[in-house]
Amino acid sequence: MNKYLDKFMETFPFEGLTYDDVTLVTQYADFLPDEASLETKLTSRIKMKIPFMSAAMDTVTEAPMAIAMALAGGIGVIHKNLEEDDQAAEVRKVKNYLNGLISSPVCFHADDDISFLRSEKRRMGLKFNGFPVLDSKERLVGMITSSDMRFAPMDAMKLRDVMQKAPITAAPGTSLKKAYDLMRTAKVGKLPLVDKAGRVVGLYSFTDVQRLVENKNPTYNCDDEFRLMVSASVSGGKGDITRLEKLVEAGVDVVVVDSAHGHSKGIMDMTKYIVRHFPDIDVIAGNIATGEAALALAKCGAHAVKVGIGPGSICTTRVVCGVGIPQLTAVYSASKALRGSDVAVIADGGIKLSGDVPKAIAAGADSVMLGSVLAGTEESPGEKIYQNGRQYVVYRGMGSMAALKNGKGSRARYFQDNEAEDDLVPQGIEGMVPFSGPVKGIMTQFCGGLRASLGYCGAKTVKELQERGRFYRVTAAGLR
Ligand code: 5GP
Repeated sequence: MNKYLDKFMETFPFEGLTYDDVTLVTQYADFLPDEASLETKLTSRIKMKIPFMSAAMDTVTEAPMAIAMALAGGIGVIHKNLEEDDQAAEVRKVKNYLNGLISSPVCFHADDDISFLRSEKRRMGLKFNGFPVLDSKERLVGMITSSDMRFAPMDAMKLRDVMQKAPITAAPGTSLKKAYDLMRTAKVGKLPLVDKAGRVVGLYSFTDVQRLVENKNPTYNCDDEFRLMVSASVSGGKGDITRLEKLVEAGVDVVVVDSAHGHSKGIMDMTKYIVRHFPDIDVIAGNIATGEAALALAKCGAHAVKVGIGPGSICTTRVVCGVGIPQLTAVYSASKALRGSDVAVIADGGIKLSGDVPKAIAAGADSVMLGSVLAGTEESPGEKIYQNGRQYVVYRGMGSMAALKNGKGSRARYFQDNEAEDDLVPQGIEGMVPFSGPVKGIMTQFCGGLRASLGYCGAKTVKELQERGRFYRVTAAGLR
């Protein structure tokens, strides 16, 4: 609990504050910024290495963005303007990205000779060794390793005469962890996965498997099977049950029940449905902007709530509907209401600069969701455009006219499922953001900014910043 924050916010009982209205106060630090930890909770049950998520928008998150975010330690939410099967396929791409499994391994035949293998290796530029050897019916009959080749008396020898016969194999679907244990015990560098007909359907290579299992890349955000974590969004009500089932089957870790007004029956019903029917899946529900809404969603079983009504850079809800709560106040209200529970708070929308992130955290957020900041990256699905010699990327609101016309998910998010095209009322705009290179570069800047902020505020962790962060109100002159 942060008593100073309560006192500060109580000074503005009917005034909504946003990030630009405040600045963080420096405090004594007995550590260097490099020693600060950015680890946080994504939900009540899932931790994350860095407090960043990519938005569930059709110009922000599909598989390449979700992969880049998880490699950086965060997570991406695959948007729901895709058809159900396509959204599930994007989830699958993320889950399969790091599995260490080579799905179409290079194989040779028992009648090939060593010189043919060597020339093929050169031609294909292969640097690795260890190949499955097949018979004329494409069934596995052996493995050939670098020592088999090195110690063969002549290059003209057939692979059948130098290969290891009866190699160690495993069944299709063998997990990375199981493969690791098997390969260590059997001391083999390659483990082919073989189906009932004797055909090779995949291959584990020990170096890849070991790197993942022994966590040589500690920034990755992985599940227990060392696969990248991924989230995807669904709509409220009963309309998206099959979408949900397909996402779960594809291996989604966290589902976001996403709407422009999360404090509503459809969102609450869907949240309860997921919690009841898929107890292993974590649910993030939103968007909301009040403590009352946060408590209502937590009561439905949500593992995290997503806060943000109107702060988005492409959002026009505040002008079209006159509705919304400035983001700092909204985040504070939700997190204050949830004190004493483990339910996490995600600040969604309105983050323009890295300095907004520690402000969101000090107001009570456990993580932030980024739209415009990531829309300009290489990994975003937004169309890349050249104008006056500069490169831009299309970024549009999920409630913009183009998105509403294009996607069922957008129409559901803005409760306009059954409207004719002429009757659609957008709550977002279409625009462009400058091209900004790979996600990795952006995340380096945002993580660096946050780490430095933790140092300035004397908080060694995200949690400490929530407990000790202090604000000053900034005047118009101060902001200038
Ligand atoms: P940004 O990071 O660009 O400021 O905001 C991204 C967030 O804005 C998204 O995660 C989502 O919650 C919200 N959003 C996305 N599209 C729209 C829209 O068309 N209208 C409104 N009101 N909010 C949107």
